[in-house]
Order: sequence, then C-alpha cells, then structure tokens
Amino acid sequence: MTIMDRVLTAGFRHNSKRLTKFDGLTPSDSLPPPDPSRTYMLYLHVPFCVVLCPFCSFHRVCFKEDKATRYFESLRQEIRMAHEVGYRFGDIYVGGGTPTVMPGELAKTLDLCRKLSPINSISVETNPDDLTPEVMTQVRDAGVTRLSVGVQSLDNDLLKQMDRYDKYGSAEKVMSALERANGYFETLNADMIFNLPRQTDESLLRDVDIITRQLEISQTTFYPLMSAESTMRKMLKMMGEVNFDREGHMYRLILDALPSDYQPSSAWCFNHRGDTTDEYVIENEEYLGLGSGSLSYLGGILYSSTFSLNHYNRQIEKGQFGISRQQPLTNRDRLRYFLLMNLFGLNLDKKVAEARYPGFFRTLAPELLGLRLMGALRDEGDRLVLTRYGMRVWVLIMREFFMAVSDFRDLMRHAIKEELDAPGPLQIRVPTPDLRPPGTY
Ligand code: SF4
Repeated sequence: MTIMDRVLTAGFRHNSKRLTKFDGLTPSDSLPPPDPSRTYMLYLHVPFCVVLCPFCSFHRVCFKEDKATRYFESLRQEIRMAHEVGYRFGDIYVGGGTPTVMPGELAKTLDLCRKLSPINSISVETNPDDLTPEVMTQVRDAGVTRLSVGVQSLDNDLLKQMDRYDKYGSAEKVMSALERANGYFETLNADMIFNLPRQTDESLLRDVDIITRQLEISQTTFYPLMSAESTMRKMLKMMGEVNFDREGHMYRLILDALPSDYQPSSAWCFNHRGDTTDEYVIENEEYLGLGSGSLSYLGGILYSSTFSLNHYNRQIEKGQFGISRQQPLTNRDRLRYFLLMNLFGLNLDKKVAEARYPGFFRTLAPELLGLRLMGALRDEGDRLVLTRYGMRVWVLIMREFFMAVSDFRDLMRHAIKEELDAPGPLQIRVPTPDLRPPGTY
C-alpha cells in the first residue's frame, strides 16, 4: 500500500465511521412524505442463508423454513403499508442473505409489488446452487430482469476456505451453472471477490479469464474483500490474514486483464457490451428499504430497520414499520454522499449536482481540489470524470464506506436485545391519510 493509500484509508475510515455511527441514536417516529410526482427505488432484504460464510458481514441468519415463511408474510405486509402511505416504486433490488432461499415466497412478494405499481426493473441476488431451471424460471416469470450470483471465486481451494465448496459446489459445477443461466435474464451478474487472504495473482487472473473470455457473463463485479470487525477473527481462522497492501495491485491486475468489450459502469462493475449498473445506490440517491436489517436514505436522513426478526414481525403485526433508527446527515455530508455515489458510477453531471444542491461546488471546493491534485478527477465538459487512478481511489473509499456500514450492522445486532425490550418509542406508526400531520409520516 502506498503512503497515499494509507493517508486516504485513514481519512475515509474516519469519515465513513462518523457517517454511519448513528450517533445519539434517535428512535424513528417519522418518515418524510413521499414525493407524489416520482417513484422510488425499493430495497427488500431477505436475511436467510443456508451456510453463513466467514467473511460475510451482511445481516443474515441460518435458514429455517417456518421462520422464513413468516418473514416473507411480514415483508409483504410492510410493502402494502408503504404503498398505503403513498410510496410508489419504479425499480426493486432484493438483497440478502439469499433472496431465492424460498423462490415461491420471493415470486409471491414480487408479484405483489408488480400488482401495486408498474415496475421497470427487478434485481435479485442469489447463490450458484439456485441456478436451476425451476428456480430461474420461477423468478424470471415474477419479473426479475437482473440476477446477481454470488460466485466469489472459481478457485476450489479458496471456495473450501470460504466454506462454500460443499454447499455451493466446486468451481467446475459453478461454471456449468453460470453457463446455463447466461441468457436467461436481461442481465446476469457474477459477483467476485479480490484480495482474499490466500488468493494469488494467477488465481485472480484465471477468474477474470473464465468469467469474461470463457463464459462471457453479461456483467461482473469484482469487489475488494471487505469485512466487519466482528468477522475478522473468524476469517483469520478459516482463511488467513487480510492484507490490504495488495488491494491496489490486484485491482490494477483486473483492469489490465479485462477484455476490451467489458466496460466499467462503476469502479468495480464491468459490463459486456451493455450499460446496466450493479449498485442501486448509484442510480438512486434516495431509496426505501423494507425488511429486517434494511437501510433507507430519504430526505437527507439515513434510516435503519430493526435487525431482530422477532421484533420486526411484531412491529408489522401491530401495523408499524420495521424502521427503528435514524441518522440525519448534515448539509455537507448530503453533498459528499451525492458526490461519493455519483463518482462511484464514474462521473458526475455538474449541472445536475448544482441544480440538486445549489452551492454544491463552492461547498465541496476543498474536497474537489484535493481529488484533482491527486489526479483522481478530470473535467470533461459538463462532467467530472474519474480517472483510472480515481477508480482505484474510489475502490478504497467505497471499501471503507461499506466496512463502516458493516460495523454499523454489528452495532445493530448488539442492539437486538435493547430493541426487543424497548417500549413504544422505537416504533413507527402508519398514519391513515386523514390523520397525517402536515409534512410528516
Ligand atoms: S456471502 Fe452470501 S451466502 Fe454467504 S453468508 Fe453472506 S449473504 Fe449468505
């Protein structure tokens, strides 16, 4: 890691932790009213997995059929509640966990969404063992346009270290499943990880080659390894020590090895002759998250739903949303968040930024000067564009950002007991339209 990398990591770690600390956690009792002239991105969280991978810090729990069935019922009820208070959805992203853990329940949930609002696109995460004709047909018929498969690596030794070999199959098995799935959906994305503890340059280059040249998967995402403080010990035991010093080198290897018909749509997502994006946060500044462990960003406030499945079910039963925490962002942080997400998508439209946040460039002048001086940005007419070095910087920034989000998830998991014991105030009511106080929900 260069000295510049170290300075950037320290700076962005500090800022990301501050942004996601949910300091002075205030119970959430209001949501901003939806803007009736627009539709929102809807994020749905399905937290069940058959195997819990050691590196993973998402909100996930071991799959049990009865628990998951009940959860899907609550999730559908929360969707109806959001619709009742006026939210309309244009696009849906279902993340987890493993959303396809009960494909029938997922299809029922997506059918409900499509019945409530016309939907443009639906993106769903899955694992390789769910790439069967039955599951794929079921989710495609439910309107899924993009399926994102957690492959992580095509190296059998690494798959074993990650505890994925037995459950999700050998590299060869995963490759034939991907081959089968390619062409089933408008977009098939293969999620890969780089900078795994024992991953060699050769292993990474082989992954790039198989995914792009051999299988020609329509989209691939190469994430840098990220982890929360809570998963570090388990990862160390099962996979070895993480060395962030190799990250920049491995990222450059990927950029150099990608065939020319794979073009980036974000700092770590690459499309085969297309232009879809991997990250819903790039195209949708604001989004509503439903389900246990989901985050929302609405009206300059970050919201988090309870991480306790029991608490979540109880809230929904009482006619209340699962949201239990909120963190308002300062004006400067809102602008920084806008800059962060737009440049993660490789460029920022200057006119759009100034129209959205008057004084945008004046307020963020120091940050932009710093990025220009280090060679991360260049001006291209009305756009600010990330340079190749800027893409590397953004990988580092986003890694720090998502690791801070993971640490926040740890905090929320620790708060489960506190939430279960909490009386009324950690709850959000669904007002009937005529009782709604002006300007609030
Ligand atoms: S990596 Fe995917 S399958 Fe593994 S525990 Fe995390 S969400 Fe579940």
